[in-house]
Amino acid sequence: MPTLIKNARIFAPQDLGRGEVLVAGNRIALVAESVDLSGPELRVIDADGRWLLPGLIDPLTHPCGGGGEGGFGNRTAEIDANAFIRAGVTTPVGALGTDSITRTLDSLYGQVMTLRAHGLSALMFSGSYRVPPATLTGDVARDMMLIQPVIGIGEVAIADHRSSHPSFEEFRRLSSDVHLGGTLSGKGGTLLIHVGDGEDGLGLIEEILSASLLPRRLFYPTHVNRQTALLKQAVKHTRRGGFADITVSTTPELIDEGEVPAPDAYRQAVEAGADSKRLTLSSDAGGSLPHYRNGRLAGLTSAPADSLLSLLRTCLLQDREFAQELIAAMTLNTARALKLPHKGRIAAGADADLLLLDAGRGRLDTVMSRGRLLMHNGQIQTMNHSDNTGAY
Ligand code: ZN
Repeated sequence: MPTLIKNARIFAPQDLGRGEVLVAGNRIALVAESVDLSGPELRVIDADGRWLLPGLIDPLTHPCGGGGEGGFGNRTAEIDANAFIRAGVTTPVGALGTDSITRTLDSLYGQVMTLRAHGLSALMFSGSYRVPPATLTGDVARDMMLIQPVIGIGEVAIADHRSSHPSFEEFRRLSSDVHLGGTLSGKGGTLLIHVGDGEDGLGLIEEILSASLLPRRLFYPTHVNRQTALLKQAVKHTRRGGFADITVSTTPELIDEGEVPAPDAYRQAVEAGADSKRLTLSSDAGGSLPHYRNGRLAGLTSAPADSLLSLLRTCLLQDREFAQELIAAMTLNTARALKLPHKGRIAAGADADLLLLDAGRGRLDTVMSRGRLLMHNGQIQTMNHSDNTGAY
């Protein structure tokens, strides 16, 4: 059934003012000031002035859970579809975390397909923290060619005590394979890089770029707000055409250790001359967040699936203009970083991934994914079981 969303304040993500959006099948058919259409076969949703945004794209989530760094008692749980739906994340991208021994790409694939069966445009990275990377088929380029939801490789760790400390040759070979897989599959290919506390930061990426013909946009570092020095390197990376990802989930302890909170990191990067179209935000949902008592590890909690939405809500209540800027870093910029041309924008021909947000109260009440209502007026919509196959 086609759906007409009326009386919305549209952020496409750029501010289009008041307008109406017609959805047909899983795509947006029309965006206009007013759409003159009626009939018994038309579902009409009156937005009543609420904000209409593209569904959020979260480029780093751990839908199978993560953690385990303090032993088996510290592993985090799987994330189900409803958690992403309530968070407005219509495109979660899953990755393995530090543990690629008891967490496998097979189970990540299964969880990603489960999220798809519940209506989300879930995607995944093959590979792992460790190099040589975990794979599904024995080869990263094959994974990208043959496994539909695999859009790249990640998160591969560098400059981190938990990484494999990949050598220049190992990392250049891996990057080349991702580039080849992205080219052959038509997916573009992305190498999502977990950057740790190490002083070298993005050094290995710069070395490879100066000693190869690989494009800079292949390298997508995350956690770049971990330290001010790393953030400065990321600013340069965006100015030269790369994308950089800021992690939103944090703890007071991490901030004490030098992490720059996501909104401050975004502002500082833009002030330092970063290309704001090349900055993105991710939740690291399911990743472990350590907390300490009297200087001792007291446990790990897991990063929530709704970190992006919480940040947007906080900014909406404090600084609306800034909130509008952050919408792009959660939608269009991320779609560009991941080469997803139908995602992250409200325009004719784009996927109908849409959110209705009551900006005054900071409340998300309606989520549409590929034309299907997954939440309406705050209620999760139960899906027809026969639709529940994961077919895409
Ligand atoms: Zn990471």
